[in-house]
Amino acid sequence: MRCSIGNSKKHKNIKFKLIKKFNPLLRNQFYCSAKLSKIQRIFGNARKSMISDIFPFNQFCLAYIFNKMPAKIIDGKKIAEKIINDLKSKIKNMKEKPGLALVLVGNNPASEVYVNFKEKDSKEAGVYCERYNLDENISEMDLLNLVNNLNQNPKIHGVLVQLPLPKHIDENLVTNSILPHKDVDGFTAVSLGHLFSDKTILAPATARAVIHLIESTGAKIEGKNAVVVGRSNIVGKPVAMMLLEKNATVTICHSRTKNLEENTKKADILVVAVGKPNLITKDMVKEGAVVIDVGINRIGGKLVGDVDFNNVKEVAGFITPVPGGVGPMTRAMLMENTLKAVELAKRIS
Ligand code: NAP
Repeated sequence: MRCSIGNSKKHKNIKFKLIKKFNPLLRNQFYCSAKLSKIQRIFGNARKSMISDIFPFNQFCLAYIFNKMPAKIIDGKKIAEKIINDLKSKIKNMKEKPGLALVLVGNNPASEVYVNFKEKDSKEAGVYCERYNLDENISEMDLLNLVNNLNQNPKIHGVLVQLPLPKHIDENLVTNSILPHKDVDGFTAVSLGHLFSDKTILAPATARAVIHLIESTGAKIEGKNAVVVGRSNIVGKPVAMMLLEKNATVTICHSRTKNLEENTKKADILVVAVGKPNLITKDMVKEGAVVIDVGINRIGGKLVGDVDFNNVKEVAGFITPVPGGVGPMTRAMLMENTLKAVELAKRIS
């Protein structure tokens, strides 16, 4: 992965300071490990190529340092906050406020938490929000009628039915009853089908979040080996299609994949969306890879992803944390989709 110091005044200053401070030290192959950890602390998240640009003469030292240098953490929460703030400014100047309907069926605690967050984000961004808390035993017909009413409501631009739904309700039927231009989750067959063209209507929020996070690192997607672990219709497949659209060479792995490690080891970009804690360990990751952990697992009240974060960060170039990575970005992308839905409604009317 390339990420070198540029030629801006700020970067030249950093370069000068680093050279002044460490040049003599790095020329010496026998420096003590105390000094090494000091270098690592000061360099913090600097990239390998950036430092090798400055100290090209001592590859031995660099290898030693970088074997111990942790990945750069992709702060999804911070990036998402910026997106929500930008949306807030845009929405402030809009005559017609974007409207989002959040439909929650039953009392699934995780679903309740997700819907609470989405409601909070809507308020934060200035999106008009209607929330429907429906009884677990609601009939499929009543739920379809509600979605139909929301489809017809001009104040509502986006309709989101939180999944999973109770067993007696056909999830596919309900999801596909949302009009495609109001499908802010991007889960309807029409929205997913559009991923095969370069003209998506509303792409799935989580897949958009993943692409956004990869691009936030500055790493190029084009020409890279991207491996997606998980092939669900709402995460794995859309992510794979979007990476393909961006000219990555894409491999999709799933529960029947033989030698998962053989595939993940080749990944410059590794996206994991499975729902199994610690599925991806350090020895399965290529040095310097961009690792995006979509998984959400609860262990003893604590949220963790699918990646063994503490160890994988020792080899990856960039890595998302759980919580604070894909989750908040997905919600930010949902808000973006809601804004986009306003434009779609205008075009359709
Ligand atoms: P899903 O529908 O259960 O799909 C899981 C996928 O993982 C399946 O394709 C399955 O393969 C594959 N898989 C299972 N065991 C595997 C193994 N040992 N090795 C390789 N692949 C394996 O789940 P999902 O809806 O895609 O969600 C995946 C995770 O992401 C969950 O933890 C979910 O909570 C989380 N999630 C997070 C966000 C967010 O915003 N952060 C959004 C959505 C989902 P098969 O197809 O062969 O069964």
